[in-house]
Amino acid sequence: MVKNLIIVNFLIIIGIQAIAQERADERERMVKQQLISRGIRSKAVLDAMRKVERHRFVPTEVSSQAYNDYPLPIGEGQTISQPYIVAFMTEALELKPTDKVLEVGTGSGYQAAILAEICREVYTIEIVESLGKQAAQILKQLGYTNVHVRIGDGYFGWPEAAPFDAIIVTCSPSDVPEPLQQQLAEGGRMIIPVGEGQVQELVLITKQNEKLKRQHRLPVLFVPMRDKKGKRY
Ligand code: SAH
Repeated sequence: MVKNLIIVNFLIIIGIQAIAQERADERERMVKQQLISRGIRSKAVLDAMRKVERHRFVPTEVSSQAYNDYPLPIGEGQTISQPYIVAFMTEALELKPTDKVLEVGTGSGYQAAILAEICREVYTIEIVESLGKQAAQILKQLGYTNVHVRIGDGYFGWPEAAPFDAIIVTCSPSDVPEPLQQQLAEGGRMIIPVGEGQVQELVLITKQNEKLKRQHRLPVLFVPMRDKKGKRY
């Protein structure tokens, strides 16, 4: 009897470990082949990308492709970014564990989970209600108590929670929204894809002595930032 119990316990422990490390080998390969090989160096970012189970954030139809080197559809015509772009943007923000971060464009919630692994508090806004609700649910299931999800228009930021040490925008406006510039803390960093055409420019903005400095980083392709009527910003 005791022996049986021990065996049962042993099997449960093995089972829990298997679940905890689900597809860990695929993540390790993604980190090596897609991130380290392209120059991502931040240990905090690489560790977060190793840990967060990206396959939980994508629809089951594309789950087998969750760790592949391209963006994937998440419904409502939106996409989850390619893993490299998630890592690149996160690294560019030079996050500290004490930072409070704003994300505009929650989408699947994957980027929010990566941020939540690295910093203190994450505020994320999604304009499509069904996506925001689903992201909030999965983030809660996975135990992220430091992520706050709001359904709304992220163009206006989240004034009650401002200022933010870092801001990441994962949909593309034609220029940097004024409210986001104001809600960036002194010494803060913002990464945002800006542009009107098919291809945009990923811009890193830093705020020093109340002044904003812009640096161009990469040409990228993001879904447009839209208002509640669907009009492009
Ligand atoms: N960061 C996401 C990817 C987001 S795709 C992830 O990790 O999965 C961009 C998202 O921005 C889409 O879900 C789109 O609905 C949302 N979006 C577009 N305009 C917006 C706006 N004005 N405010 C908030 N979200 C917006």
